Amino acid sequence: MAPVTLARPCALQVLRTVFGYDSFRGQQQAIIQCLITGDDVLVLMPTGGGKSLCYQIPALVRDGVGIVISPLIALMQDQVSALHQVGVKAAYLNSTLSLEQVRQTEQALLDGDLDLLYIAPERLSNGRTQALFARCKIALFAIDEAHCVSQWGHDFRADYLLLSVLHEQFPTVPRIALTATADERTRQEIITRLALENAQVFVSGFDRPNIRYRIVQKDNARQQLLRFIQTEHPGDTGIIYCLSRKKVEETAEWLNQKGLRALPYHAGMSNEQRQKHQHRFLIEDGLIIVATIAFGMGIDKPNVRFVGHLDLPKSIEAYYQETGRAGRDGLPANAWMAYGLQDVLTLRQMLASSTADETHKRVEYHKLEAMLALCETVSCRRQALLAYFGDVQGGTSAAIGRTPKAADHLPQGCGNCDTCLEPVATWDGTVPAQQALSCIYRTGQRFGVNYLIDVLLGKSDERIRQFGHDKQSTFGIGKALDEKQWRSVFRQLVARALVEVDFESHGSLKLTEACRSVLRGEQTLMLRKDTQTTKSKTKGYEKRQPEHGADNALWNALRAKRKQLAEEQDVPPYVIFHDATLMAMVENRPRTHRQLALISGVGERKLALYGDAFLEVLAEFDDEANSTDTVSETLDLFRLGYSIEQVARQRGLKDDTVYNHLAKALEVGAVRFDEVLELSPEEIAGIEAVLLALPDERRNALKPVYEQLGGAYSYGILRCVRAALQHRLK
Ligand SMILES: [Zn+2]
Repeated sequence: MAPVTLARPCALQVLRTVFGYDSFRGQQQAIIQCLITGDDVLVLMPTGGGKSLCYQIPALVRDGVGIVISPLIALMQDQVSALHQVGVKAAYLNSTLSLEQVRQTEQALLDGDLDLLYIAPERLSNGRTQALFARCKIALFAIDEAHCVSQWGHDFRADYLLLSVLHEQFPTVPRIALTATADERTRQEIITRLALENAQVFVSGFDRPNIRYRIVQKDNARQQLLRFIQTEHPGDTGIIYCLSRKKVEETAEWLNQKGLRALPYHAGMSNEQRQKHQHRFLIEDGLIIVATIAFGMGIDKPNVRFVGHLDLPKSIEAYYQETGRAGRDGLPANAWMAYGLQDVLTLRQMLASSTADETHKRVEYHKLEAMLALCETVSCRRQALLAYFGDVQGGTSAAIGRTPKAADHLPQGCGNCDTCLEPVATWDGTVPAQQALSCIYRTGQRFGVNYLIDVLLGKSDERIRQFGHDKQSTFGIGKALDEKQWRSVFRQLVARALVEVDFESHGSLKLTEACRSVLRGEQTLMLRKDTQTTKSKTKGYEKRQPEHGADNALWNALRAKRKQLAEEQDVPPYVIFHDATLMAMVENRPRTHRQLALISGVGERKLALYGDAFLEVLAEFDDEANSTDTVSETLDLFRLGYSIEQVARQRGLKDDTVYNHLAKALEVGAVRFDEVLELSPEEIAGIEAVLLALPDERRNALKPVYEQLGGAYSYGILRCVRAALQHRLK
């Protein structure tokens, strides 16, 4: 008898029914198609770009089990939990398992009971693992963090070199290698070492449009940070980076004193303590981690709302990787950094005193240059960032057989960074720069910034008199600027390498060759005008929290439900539903399973598991404002001739609630539209047209209607028009 072949589901079906998403993002579909047809693939995609679906879906579509090699234990466990939630049979093999657990997982693998198996790379050196693989049907190999194979990169792992074995032993099984590293040299090494010469290469854009970049001038950085968190991110999850362990400890403690919940994380803590803090960060909402760069690898928490830097990172790569941990769910997030003269001096000095070889030092030097240029730029930060990565990727396509997609390029400002939102003024700083440079020269290139500023301002203290610098021509010539402005001038001189820091004589400034043209007046020096504003402007920052009181209450109730369910299963809340999914529930107010299934992120299994729980919460909020008794009380007052405002005042309700009552009454036909609201038939027809044009899955959404009508009608009125329309269509 011929074997029965079951039709495998197609990729889009899996995306919709299992994961609950409507459509693929970016290059996902093309990548998935390649794998399904059996081709090898190399994917360069930024974090948060939806990498994991690229192998998870083909593993489900193809026959057999998908093997995922990942060096990150926390990430592995997280992904397996998330897959269990959507009903995918997934497991992992790593050092955290007991022998018995390992045995069970291996048995499940042999029995064909797994769709996906995550495995740590060191297990591949084990003959047992290879023998195991030989006995089962493998759908694909996914090699995550593929840059670990490169000795050029910083995350090299010897275990990764073993991965070439996979291709030799299983030549017909398609492989996908994934990395978020854009560096060309690393990419070439991945291709060579993993024998991916025939792979299709996909390079995604590196832009993260939902992240707002902001670099402020340091002026009591801790206070600035606190104000930033209090005004823009109360109760939000975030990461704050500092360079030293001491500063990490102090900052975390200080934030706690100020009533925020913050935990330290650095390499000097015990392994156990670090694990504990990392786990709490993943599981809890609204926790802030203060960390050195040691934190973040393998952290895939999607709803980190802000990343702050109290110290300057050493390169744009580091800055981009660290800030990239914000907003992986695609919702608005902030990358905030405080930067000042001391940062420039410290990093310059660290570099100068480094014992690395000259080549390495030169690379580091250029990386710092680029980072400083980003801080000092007066044009769009995002443009500068993408241009930087564009250069890194430039001129590479010929070597790879298949032309990769070009890196992103922004022809105009992004509109979502500080310099776009509040354009920076420049000023002609040529004369002050000349004054500063000659002051350095005339005092013998032996002094630090503070001393030099005192001389320029003509402060006659003992030390200055002792050196006789009060007799010099530069003494007191800088009174046109104040101390802050002078610090800004010096910072920009150092950042532009017109002045260098002498590490041997502890921070004294020296002239460089490059400053000659400025001193001779051959070059005009346009400087950045530092804004002195202390309060950060939040204009245009789209908070993901709902704007309305009623919506906010529902949002909080949905989050509380999610937290409860997550705690019950000891998984992070976002494994139940992402913030974006809860937001869509608030906007669309689904009432039935069918309506809930239309919300992005709600797949079949989650609908079955959690549908009732969340619909119950939604119903509570439907009823609270709309129960029959309170509705008729409102209607009675209307019939007595009260206006909406009067009813609200009389009953101690918000106007919005009164509108809700009216909407409820209109929907069941208890009242006629013209009895309660004064709108012309044309106006009503106009609103109805917009309502009727909404796509099915957003039938209950009012925000697009509100926006399309330019905010001419309140949400209350729109709700009433919709209710009357629904009654008519019944
Ligand atoms: Zn911009």
